[in-house]
Amino acid sequence: MMLEEMGLAPVWHLRDQSGAASVEEPPVTEAPVTRDPSHVADTGDRRGEIMSLDWDRLKARVASCTDCPLHATRKKTVFGVGDEAAEWLFVGEGPGADDDAQGEPFVGQAGKLLDNMLAAISLKRGANVYIANILKCRPPGNRNPEPHEALQCEPYLHRQIELIRPKLIIALGRVAAANLLASEASVASMRGKIHRYRGIPLIVTYHPAYLLRNLTDKAKAWEDLLFAVRTMEVLRKGAEAPT
Ligand code: URA
Repeated sequence: MMLEEMGLAPVWHLRDQSGAASVEEPPVTEAPVTRDPSHVADTGDRRGEIMSLDWDRLKARVASCTDCPLHATRKKTVFGVGDEAAEWLFVGEGPGADDDAQGEPFVGQAGKLLDNMLAAISLKRGANVYIANILKCRPPGNRNPEPHEALQCEPYLHRQIELIRPKLIIALGRVAAANLLASEASVASMRGKIHRYRGIPLIVTYHPAYLLRNLTDKAKAWEDLLFAVRTMEVLRKGAEAPT
């Protein structure tokens, strides 16, 4: 199995879930909104225009976007990939070098680990799963997104989320969580809780690239995935997600 090939088997095996965080009454937080993206000062009605686009027009709009300086250094835009009616939405930070070259998110080493994380909970890219990023263009040298870049890109992801209408969003790492939840809190403090992005339940876990460097936190990421699976089961039953 792929997980064993990655040397993750001792950590990623399914096991008794009794010790993991409960989903019956999960801690729920509504992150303090310190920066409501809907109030971004777009030029003209840029947000309104983007929010009116269907999938094809949204893809074309992103492919030709020159609204922030990252367009000058990108090779390809990385729109996102997967099932456009997915229940699961995984959100990363921004394209890396391989993603930038291929126009697809998470195709490098971190992407391999993400695929293995998905496989560990019986999911796979493209089947009831959509993968997107905070940024559609690669920041040079893989630096973190600048706030103005993330703000310019935010309506695109917002529109994707409106079109997909996922049941559950998984924020991969601090940059994704910070931008989706408008919070500067650490991943460690945001894990194990159900947050909300515009009403949609959202769970935070570690970024796969971080996990490649911090092997000891893989066990925590595995707990987060199990928590997400149990949360999805509750959501599928139609239970009102905790607010
Ligand atoms: N590739 C992506 O598409 N997103 C990340 O966050 C990292 C690598």
